[in-house]
Amino acid sequence: MKNRKKAIVIGAGLGGMATALRLSAQGWAVTICERGATPGGKMNRWSTQGYTFDTGPSLITMPDVFEELYQALGTDMREYVELMQLTHQVNYTFDDGTTCSQSASLPEWLNTVRRFEGTTEGFMAYMELGARLHEVSKSTFFARSPMEPPGKETVHVLANMPLRRGWGHYHKEMSHYIKSPYLRRIYDRYMTYVGSSPHQSPGTLCVVPYVEYAQGGWHIRGGLYNIIQSLETLMDKHGVELRLNAEVDRIAHTAKKVEGVRLAAGERLDADVVIMNGDVSMTGPMLGIDKHRECPPDERSLSGLVFLFALKNRHPDWSHHQVCFSRDYDHEFRQLFDERCFPDDPTVYVNMPSITDRSMTPGDGEVMFVMANAPANDRISWDAAHTEAARQRVLNRLKVSGFPDFADEIVASDVWTPERMAQTYAMPGGAIYGRNSHGKKNAFMRPLNKDMKIKGLYYVGGSTHPGGGTPTVLMSARITTNLIQKYEK
Ligand SMILES: Cc1cc2nc3c(=O)[nH]c(=O)nc-3n(C[C@H](O)[C@H](O)[C@H](O)COP(=O)(O)OP(=O)(O)OC[C@H]3O[C@@H](n4cnc5c(N)ncnc54)[C@H](O)[C@@H]3O)c2cc1C
Repeated sequence: MKNRKKAIVIGAGLGGMATALRLSAQGWAVTICERGATPGGKMNRWSTQGYTFDTGPSLITMPDVFEELYQALGTDMREYVELMQLTHQVNYTFDDGTTCSQSASLPEWLNTVRRFEGTTEGFMAYMELGARLHEVSKSTFFARSPMEPPGKETVHVLANMPLRRGWGHYHKEMSHYIKSPYLRRIYDRYMTYVGSSPHQSPGTLCVVPYVEYAQGGWHIRGGLYNIIQSLETLMDKHGVELRLNAEVDRIAHTAKKVEGVRLAAGERLDADVVIMNGDVSMTGPMLGIDKHRECPPDERSLSGLVFLFALKNRHPDWSHHQVCFSRDYDHEFRQLFDERCFPDDPTVYVNMPSITDRSMTPGDGEVMFVMANAPANDRISWDAAHTEAARQRVLNRLKVSGFPDFADEIVASDVWTPERMAQTYAMPGGAIYGRNSHGKKNAFMRPLNKDMKIKGLYYVGGSTHPGGGTPTVLMSARITTNLIQKYEK
């Protein structure tokens, strides 16, 4: 036991915890240093008066990626958490009052597609493109670092490579298949899953709506934070040391090799390997190397403005996931990415997990998570006046979309501004997914999981390869662990 190699993970986000667990299962002695008081990072929880809120992720996609983590640890995810598949993934309301529900049942959803498009051919061809891109990504982008030489899988990749489509920008590629302006909005919105604009992201990201539809949208009974709690239990079992309120302010290194970390409180911890799970753009100051992995503000992904409302009454006829689209979605993206201001008329996402899962509320009542995209902009000060003005725009969009008035029912509330996210999780501008996925370079050459200058320094999480969102972060943990096994034996 004494000769075990030592790894320190900076940050107990989902990716940091998964990497720590994978390494400890392979015999490493692992310590996680987390600056916050609880683990989980953006996958966070707020509980009040018997109401339970997930303050970050609200939808699980690609459940097999989660299941694979538990299997790699010699256990079964279902022993720890209960996965609940949603029969209706999202209810959409458009500005002109048109509505539709994205059913998980293919025949039902095809009826809706036919209602908008007149035919289902384009949609099916679009899903086929997504399926091919998924086959290609599974053994390449999702499986290994782009710095690693391609393996035997290349033959399989070539056989599935979509030769004619998927290489322009996302909106153009998607619009080749989908003609209805309503469905185009629905599919454009998927690029916000990676904090990006459909007009600037590459067409290969057509894989995103495919994986959600093919593998379904899922909830975790009791809230998604139960995943974090289960990983904490597993860390205990595997002997991973979790140090909370332990901010790392320095990564100790020589010119060529990492030596450990220094905590803000002054303590020095030595290690053979250091893995950064915080936003990679924060690494430069910690190393004392200018511009190391810096992300210019105009290349940041989106942030978000989130309101949490505990409602006293039950509303069984409302939906678990609801999206109210703005009047002019293109204008909204221009405001978010070009003008870098909070939209006049934001598209609003409402998540009410208590519709499906009554364990999240005390008796009657509902938990309501309301989110609009916001720029990750240091220029905006989210003071009370600015936040209130943005809140009025969000509530106005709900009202215009015919959402029932719930103001008198609120018994508790909280708000997460981009500024609060930035401060809580040490992520510049509150950019949820690090760098945006605009252009092929940002989308596919994300910051590498292994530092090319300093031996023993690695990266994991949404701001590194392959990108943000909970399943991709878990892929990142697998890729980073494999690199450590290969290079640090
Ligand atoms: C509002 C919101 C909604 C979202 N919705 C979804 C969704 O529906 N589905 C989905 O899949 N994903 C969603 N996401 C994205 C998802 O939450 C993230 O991609 C994922 O959780 C990020 O994990 P990570 O490993 O990158 O770590 P992070 O969550 O970024 O955690 C990094 C940790 O490092 C710590 N840290 C940073 N610097 C230091 C330091 N110097 N010393 C010590 N600790 C440090 C931070 O405190 C933090 O705890 C959402 C995120 C947000 C905020």
